Amino acid sequence: MTAALPSSSHPTTPPSSADIAERLKASGVRVTEQRLAISRCLYSGGHRHLTAEQLKDELTQQGEKVALATVYNTLHQLTRAGLLKQIIIDPQRTYFDTNTHQHHHFFYEEDGHLEDIPNERIAVRLDHDDPQKAAGPNGTKITSVDVVIRLQRQD
Ligand SMILES: [Zn+2]
Repeated sequence: MTAALPSSSHPTTPPSSADIAERLKASGVRVTEQRLAISRCLYSGGHRHLTAEQLKDELTQQGEKVALATVYNTLHQLTRAGLLKQIIIDPQRTYFDTNTHQHHHFFYEEDGHLEDIPNERIAVRLDHDDPQKAAGPNGTKITSVDVVIRLQRQD
């Protein structure tokens, strides 16, 4: 089970540390000082897409001393707990998304910016199946479809 953190429906009231600690616990993540600092930074307002390096920089700016390896471990742990979604753009670039609902992305190649595309704006069809019920090959089941549309600005 996943317990989604408050999302952009309450952009002006970031969750308190106590709220965040509760969510971590409810999702089976043991709460430590560092995980809490990382989560506070992640869930500080609205939906965010961040790489581990960007998050580490933000933490450093806030005076939190957290090793990059710890940031990585925590991000992967939160992903496994269903509190983050991982978006792999290329082998060198993985973003972590605080919006865990099914949705897609525009990716701006110049500056690496990611923007959400609501799920209902993209229809993916596999053969003639109803996309909701589509079966994968050899008796497999499709668990998710993640579309990344890569964009370049035109002059
Ligand atoms: Zn997103």
